[in-house]
Amino acid sequence: MFYESTRGNYQPLPSAGAIKLGIAPDGGLFVPTEKVTFSMADISAMAGLGYQDRAAKILQSFLTDFTGEELARCINGAYNEISFDHPDVAPLVDLDEGLSVLELWHGPTCAFKDMALQILPHFLVQSMGKTGEDAGILILVATSGDTGKAALEGFKDVPRTAIVVFYPEEGVSEVQRLQMVTQEGKNVGVVAVRGNFDDTQSGVKEIFGDPGMAETALKYGYKFSSANSINWGRLVPQIVYYFSAYADLLKRGRLKVGEPVNFVVPTGNFGNILAGFYARQMGLPVNRLICAANDNNVLTDFIRTGIYDRNRAFKRTISPSMDILISSNLERLLFELTGHDAPRVRQWMADLKEHGRYEVDSTTRDMIQELFWSDFASDEETLVSIKQNYNQYKYVVDTHTAVGLHVYRKYRESTGDKFLTIVLSTASPFKFNASVTRALLGEDNTNDKDEFALLQMLADFSDLPVPPGLRALDRRPVRHKVVVDRDNMREAVIDFLRAGDCN
Ligand SMILES: *Cc1c(COP(=O)(O)O)cnc(C)c1O
Repeated sequence: MFYESTRGNYQPLPSAGAIKLGIAPDGGLFVPTEKVTFSMADISAMAGLGYQDRAAKILQSFLTDFTGEELARCINGAYNEISFDHPDVAPLVDLDEGLSVLELWHGPTCAFKDMALQILPHFLVQSMGKTGEDAGILILVATSGDTGKAALEGFKDVPRTAIVVFYPEEGVSEVQRLQMVTQEGKNVGVVAVRGNFDDTQSGVKEIFGDPGMAETALKYGYKFSSANSINWGRLVPQIVYYFSAYADLLKRGRLKVGEPVNFVVPTGNFGNILAGFYARQMGLPVNRLICAANDNNVLTDFIRTGIYDRNRAFKRTISPSMDILISSNLERLLFELTGHDAPRVRQWMADLKEHGRYEVDSTTRDMIQELFWSDFASDEETLVSIKQNYNQYKYVVDTHTAVGLHVYRKYRESTGDKFLTIVLSTASPFKFNASVTRALLGEDNTNDKDEFALLQMLADFSDLPVPPGLRALDRRPVRHKVVVDRDNMREAVIDFLRAGDCN
């Protein structure tokens, strides 16, 4: 299997090469050149397997240049009982006859990013060996909160890698910030940027595209790579849990083989839901992929109209990991739906860069509307959703999952579709405890408390333990204090290399 760039100006590479580079040098994203298909027999056989073996089947079909033994090493290094606090890794919780929730937050940082970022460093180390790479890999990450910590945890002290994470100074929760600035490890850097997530992400993209920066890094023995969701090595492990959820439903007798399901995905950068698209393309019986957005509802508008327009005010919401106006992974979907038409994708991306807007042709729009459905939740609706789900199911969800559950209800009401639906739960409620406790216990009982008091209140209220990654965060030493302007991100990387923290 080879991987080609969505912009069409780079030679196809085996997966090890694509994973090592992260982003294609022509500015595009790597996608598989061929389709992978699973038969219904393959899918039902997964019902009898554990998460690790399900992962092996899916990953082997895409990463064909990895041996079974290499993949097993990656899988066992990532999805083990030390890193994940649930034996199913991604457990499926049935709430009622038509609704299940797929919990993707049992990893070390309590958010779904762990599903990919626990395994990506293992893929990278293997890929470096396979491509005969002498240089070390320097990972640069732009994060709206969850990716940063998950990447730091995944890469800390992994030999021949180093990582610098940039986060928007005002764009992350206090718990998210403390998780990052207290990060331990010899090869890690964390930098706050004065700006929002899109500023931070475009700053990182510029560094990746700057030959001078590449030259500087190489002087210190490093080549850049990306752990953002544009790296194929992050996307492919996410395909696994769509199959795994379906296999669990078969195993429980909640579905007949071949019966379609819907997935609702709280969406930001379009990485998670794109993995669902690939799962469907591979033969998983998926009826609709439901894209749940918050007030930054660019994607809802796009799915409804075929017009992608980022020219609007950026809003800070209580589901900050979805506060995104440029969803990078959408480019992969467009490439797939146009039958790998790189010139067309290039034009749309040029329009986006120049005018902040593009409009797809009606054929592409119709295909999108057949596969996807979308709506969004305001902050107010998100809080109501948390309370309502607790009242109805005694089930506590975080703000992002609450957006998903709100949109799930909207979908049922407006379409009458009766297929079993799986809502992807993308974070532990403890990670966004300030909003969750406000929704459950009321403004009056919570507004004078700090996030750490609220963690305990949530534990008491829900009878769930505070996850280990969030305990005693406020008492750990702060190890990373650098704050820079958007235009000084390059210097921050050079300072990191010069300090030799990474060696
Ligand atoms: C990253 C994230 C999302 C958005 O996922 P994308 O793949 O960027 O669409 C949603 N919820 C949480 C909690 C996240 O961390």
